[in-house]
Amino acid sequence: MEIIDKQIIDLPATAKVDIRKLDFSEIEEWIVNMKLPKFRAKQIYSWLWEKSATNFDLMTNLSFELRDELQKHFEILPIQVDKYQKSSDGTIKTRFILHDGNKIESVLIPVPDDNRYTVCVSTQVGCSLSCKFCATGLMKRVRNLSAAEIVDQVVLVNKQCREHFGHPLTNIVYMGMGEPLLNYQATLKSIEHITSPSGLGMSPKRITISTAGISKMIKKLADDGVKCNLALSLHAADDMKRNEIMPINENNNLEALMEALQYFYRHTKNRISFEYVALHGVNLSMSDAKNLAKHCRKFPVKVNIIEYNTVEGLPFGRAAMEETDAFGLALRNLDVTVTIRRSRGKDIDAACGQLANKE
Ligand code: SF4
Repeated sequence: MEIIDKQIIDLPATAKVDIRKLDFSEIEEWIVNMKLPKFRAKQIYSWLWEKSATNFDLMTNLSFELRDELQKHFEILPIQVDKYQKSSDGTIKTRFILHDGNKIESVLIPVPDDNRYTVCVSTQVGCSLSCKFCATGLMKRVRNLSAAEIVDQVVLVNKQCREHFGHPLTNIVYMGMGEPLLNYQATLKSIEHITSPSGLGMSPKRITISTAGISKMIKKLADDGVKCNLALSLHAADDMKRNEIMPINENNNLEALMEALQYFYRHTKNRISFEYVALHGVNLSMSDAKNLAKHCRKFPVKVNIIEYNTVEGLPFGRAAMEETDAFGLALRNLDVTVTIRRSRGKDIDAACGQLANKE
């Protein structure tokens, strides 16, 4: 494991407007009020979202006067790398510091053999859902990230990916710290910037939103016509067990969730997967496999079984490879499409459920 330097950052403290919270029409309105030609708004927008400029001085096709005006009225609040760690398997966990001093983490998971370079981004500082097996759940929720703070993770990890692996990112999963559907507007806005030709121009088919399961918001995703894939962090296939490990299930039971996912599939035809963390002695019995298989018959879905990494202070154990493989086989025998994901970044606490801003 390699630990790379820590930067000390001066945090800005101003009352200017965060320009990346404005949409294009608001920037255009400001430009018109300044009695400037409308195309200036396009140039500014492109600097912000296509070229990821982190200060106004970089906007070299704008006049000095305009840059000065922008400086007076607005600010850009980029996230900055605080520290990163590279695992022996190539996974890189980066801790970012936000303009208010809060910290979040992203993980870059390279799979060169498949030409797949995935970033797992965070959407909140901490998380309010308190899943019992998750290190982030121990932190409680501090605040939501802005769309720009989510996009910044993609921009910076993409840069890191090119530097370390000579390849750009190919996939984005909203599976880091926090519940994306409880930061709905910023999540959707960030996807808009990532996929738009006037932003990063990535395909929505390469983006997966992962949710612990908020049925109302899953339907809203469908109503809003999102084009990304959806992953449900299922982890238990009956309500009693799921209530025990994921308190969110008490108000969003499996029946409501499956109905919401059916609705999502009917309206979008986007890909759905179930994430299922292998917890020793908890969710890997034959009856768990049968219950899970029943849910898989309701719409086309793939199950990803994820190896668990123990978290200090939490009572769950890692399932042995044989226990996980036997569960996978039981599911396959019930005609379920299954992938077993060997854990990545174990030595740097970068695996699923381990993100906790540890020193
Ligand atoms: S698993 Fe996801 S939703 Fe659950 S506490 Fe952790 S970060 Fe939050």
